[in-house]
Amino acid sequence: MKQEYTQSAGELLQQLDVTAQGLSGAQAAERLQKYGPNRLKEAPKPTLLQRFIEQLKDPMLIILMVAAAVSAVTNYFSGEGFAEVFIILIVVLLNAILGVYQESKAEAAIEALQTMTAATSKVLRDGKQVLLHSDELVPGDVVVLEAGDAVPADGRLLESASLQIEEAALTGESVPVHKIIEALDLDGKKDVPLGDRKNMCYMGSTVVYGRGKALITRTGMDTEMGKIAGALAATEEEQTPLQKKLDQLGQTLSKLVLGICVFIFVFNLISAGRFDLDTVLSTFMVAVSLAVAAIPEGLATVVTVVLSIGVTNMSKRNAVIRKLTAVETLGCAQVICSDKTGTLTQNKMTVVDHTGSDEKLLATAMALCSDAHLNDKGEAEGEPTEAALVAYAAKLGLPKGELEAAAPRVDEAPFDSGRKMMSTVHKTDSGWVQYTKGAPDEILRRCTTCWEGGKAVPMTEEKRAAILADNKGLADRALRVLAASFRNWDHKPEQNEPAFLEQDLCFIGLTGMIDPVRPEVKDAIVECRSAGIRPVMITGDHKDTAVAIATELGIIQSADEAITGADLNEMSDEELDKNIKKYGVYARVQPEHKVRIVTAWKKAGCVTAMTGDGVNDAPSIKSADIGVGMGITGTDVTKNVADMVLADDNFATIVGAVQEGRRIYDNIRKAIQFLLASNMSEVLGVFFATLMGFTLLQPVHLLFINLITDCFPALALGMEKAEPDVMNRPPRKTSDGIFAGGLGVDVAYQGVIITIITLASYILGHCMEVGFFEMPKGISDDGMTMAFLTMSMCEIVHSFNMRSQRKSVFTLHSHNKVLWGAMIGSLLLTTIVLEVPFIASAFGFTPVSLPEYLLALLLAVLVLPIVELVKLVQRSMARKRSA
Ligand code: ATP
Repeated sequence: MKQEYTQSAGELLQQLDVTAQGLSGAQAAERLQKYGPNRLKEAPKPTLLQRFIEQLKDPMLIILMVAAAVSAVTNYFSGEGFAEVFIILIVVLLNAILGVYQESKAEAAIEALQTMTAATSKVLRDGKQVLLHSDELVPGDVVVLEAGDAVPADGRLLESASLQIEEAALTGESVPVHKIIEALDLDGKKDVPLGDRKNMCYMGSTVVYGRGKALITRTGMDTEMGKIAGALAATEEEQTPLQKKLDQLGQTLSKLVLGICVFIFVFNLISAGRFDLDTVLSTFMVAVSLAVAAIPEGLATVVTVVLSIGVTNMSKRNAVIRKLTAVETLGCAQVICSDKTGTLTQNKMTVVDHTGSDEKLLATAMALCSDAHLNDKGEAEGEPTEAALVAYAAKLGLPKGELEAAAPRVDEAPFDSGRKMMSTVHKTDSGWVQYTKGAPDEILRRCTTCWEGGKAVPMTEEKRAAILADNKGLADRALRVLAASFRNWDHKPEQNEPAFLEQDLCFIGLTGMIDPVRPEVKDAIVECRSAGIRPVMITGDHKDTAVAIATELGIIQSADEAITGADLNEMSDEELDKNIKKYGVYARVQPEHKVRIVTAWKKAGCVTAMTGDGVNDAPSIKSADIGVGMGITGTDVTKNVADMVLADDNFATIVGAVQEGRRIYDNIRKAIQFLLASNMSEVLGVFFATLMGFTLLQPVHLLFINLITDCFPALALGMEKAEPDVMNRPPRKTSDGIFAGGLGVDVAYQGVIITIITLASYILGHCMEVGFFEMPKGISDDGMTMAFLTMSMCEIVHSFNMRSQRKSVFTLHSHNKVLWGAMIGSLLLTTIVLEVPFIASAFGFTPVSLPEYLLALLLAVLVLPIVELVKLVQRSMARKRSA
């Protein structure tokens, strides 16, 4: 077959049985059946069994399995039965199954987020332009390409208005390729390299400039990308800083524990003075129980689950997390740099004022020099600024369709936010006319004449000053001001380069359009301030407009806090770094300035979030600590590099996400504190009991508490509502470790309290059965039963303490229903283990009488008032310190 690029567009359209108006819905559906979705194959996911085995590789579980084996051997020789072995194995299995389940759920949550930000394409179907998931594209579809779009599949270009595409992913060449539509002549050669196929576009490349249309020829795995990629490696979700720290903590703990275990093992053997198999094995089991006690098995799972539930919640509030690490960084955000248009304002523009002597000419120029159009219902559709201009012209009796019929567009220099202008060339009855519209300062600089009284008069300094004053008048009213100009040609301009076209212009007039601020943003900014976060506005718009809006929103108090891109150009990086904190508004900036601004804020030591939508915003989004892409107006390029995408483009959503980020981090800390305090109490308990000559709890008991009873409250803590002051305190420092803010001390003292309570219960339980003044020795089943019951309940009660690190639980207004549920679940499980005869005997428990239950309960509840008391002291100490 002839290559697509050597054929004419017409031939190809015919071959693919489609017109330039695109496929019908029915045709597309049929082709989708035949060719399959436009997707690259993903590497196969691990099977359930593989995941399960992966879980069993956990060092902790390996220790347990060894313990089970040892226990099996001892019990075989001593003829004690295998209850313990079975329990260990069941717990290991349960833990692995739970792990697989949680992991898959978390993964599904993240995947759901990914589909929310999946790429879309503008496709012609049934003659209309619609937005579809790029998955649904088929050969024969006609797609519209604009600056910032990712090319969704391989295609042959049908239209190119200065279209430039960057194909580095395929060719390694980062200089964009100017695209054409004519068929290529191979000149006798068999083929040309991909980078030279200038009338083609390929999946994996991005449009960086201009506009065009392409006929899709290959999709999915048939594309060039598909051929290279083979199969996409499943994206590895990077661990968050906290997860990494926890991993390190886990490793340190394991090593420490191993050391202590060996020590205890040797110490016990030597002090026993006997080395027969029985003694060796029972000593080994004590060492194992210590290991079980010390290692927080549930921690990693709890963190993963809380994170994944958190990101799902965030997505419901329109903040779609793309990189899990962003959740934590959000809680540390100190500066939020936001675009103005659409994020702080509604991006609903209406022209409300104008200047200039000929309003009809002004409206004509504005409407013709824009890509918006009127739909069947007479409403303007397109980019909001341009739609407002088209609507404005229509209101003056100049519908765009009629204007275009009289003066069709023959060439253009598309808008870009660096130049802040756009030009179109039109063929009229009398010749050619070019309209250029854009930022007034830019346009005015290129005007040599001015349209007055029906003719072009020379531009004088007075006129220029008067126009600038008009501009300021409009801008001070928070209006977005655009200028229009024209240039007559007696022939079609030879080039469409902006520099060639945009000179020697004739000034027509200005339009001022209102773009109301988003009502919720004002409150969000107040919230930012109380949360110690600095809101900053970055905009391409005029300084006066920006200042007016920023003042209204409370971002700045005076115009001194605003600076322009031109001012930035005058400043060295050092100067900017020194002064960055003085400015809250950066106006008339170009995308390149944004990188300098983020870098300066970061150098000032601030964790910085930055929004972006345009094709050139990707570098600044990438360099920000939290890159925020826009879901509605954003380009694929920015969304793809963003850490978070706003489904509603709203500034208030960022602030909401910060709050959620802080809540998630707080809750993870609560769960960590809870689990570590629990482990601490177990280690201390086992250790001191050994010193006193008795065994506190068997490995299976500790295992049950750690993996079953503790897990539910820990997860429930992860779902705790935000504390009322989450947004009234300064951001967390990124350097803060897990134990920051006195968490380490809290874990330690709380662990000690639970240890004392449990030991007391053991001794009381033992003495209640065998008589007082009979201190336990070796293994006391009665003591163990009471210790198990008390410790389980104590943990449950303690989880309520954890609802707030320093505040009294009784002052919290929110309720955590899940925690109550967890409490009931944990209580139920503990009761089952103690009361169902065959399970109780498998665990080696003795029957518990009512007084014993009550005693255990009484002891367990003690943890609540004690911790409340300590919190009271801590609060008063904190008050004294801050006074
Ligand atoms: P923000 O950066 O807050 O979104 P913005 O929308 O003003 O602000 P840009 O889209 O980069 O930023 O626009 C910069 C300037 O270019 C605008 O202030 C306006 O003067 C001009 N401009 C915007 N859109 C067009 C357009 N379609 N045609 C011509 N000029 C435009």
